[in-house]
Amino acid sequence: REVAATVQAVLTTIAETVDLNVEELGRLDSIAGDGDHGIGMQRGSHAAATAGATAFSAGAGAETVLARAADAWADRAGGTSGALWGLILAQVAVRLGDEGRPSREAVAAGVSAAAESVMAYGKAELGDKTMVDVLVPFAETLSRQVDDGAALIAAWSEAAAVATAKATATADLMPRMGRARAHGKNSVGTPDPGAHSLALIVNAISTVLS
Ligand code: ADP
Ligand code: MG
Ligand code: MG
Repeated sequence: REVAATVQAVLTTIAETVDLNVEELGRLDSIAGDGDHGIGMQRGSHAAATAGATAFSAGAGAETVLARAADAWADRAGGTSGALWGLILAQVAVRLGDEGRPSREAVAAGVSAAAESVMAYGKAELGDKTMVDVLVPFAETLSRQVDDGAALIAAWSEAAAVATAKATATADLMPRMGRARAHGKNSVGTPDPGAHSLALIVNAISTVLS
């Protein structure tokens, strides 16, 4: 139940972070995309926090709380990023389990599985100017830090710093996937919206884990 409570606090933090950045995310997506990344993330993250809270109140463990949140996010967000965020949460959920305290290795394995599943489903590769450009190095840094024996909060914070740098670096790329591809050149000089929101969220989660 302690772990389920932390998961619920993470879901609330994600929704709050999206709220604080909703206009900025819409603006970034309007440069080469359709401008709905802020509102899509807002619908998804709030649906996830609400569904998680309902499961938590009913006594569910961490895996179930996060799995319900994943389904709600994918159902309610609409858009490509909604489906991908549903996948991310669902992959982490399985590794947390409902009983006991998951190991640091389990958390890192969940994030790595999330990165693999986003790539398998969305077919984007590194350098295509999508959230993959943040998710993959985030997952790799987290796993490496955990393997080196870092505590979860230290490993997560290190990986979150890498996520920020990688999100910023997407500004230099030409989009090769998603809606932004059609207006590719417009987006050079601007970071990818999905990469930026992912970096904001993993950084905000650091404050919950500490
Ligand atoms: P939509 O493009 O359907 O309007 P959003 O605006 O919510 O959805 O999300 C756009 C973000 O989704 C992009 O900035 C990018 O990071 C991510 N994205 C789009 N297509 C893919 C893909 N095939 N693989 C990974 N991420 C993707
Ligand atoms: Mg969009
Ligand atoms: Mg859209």
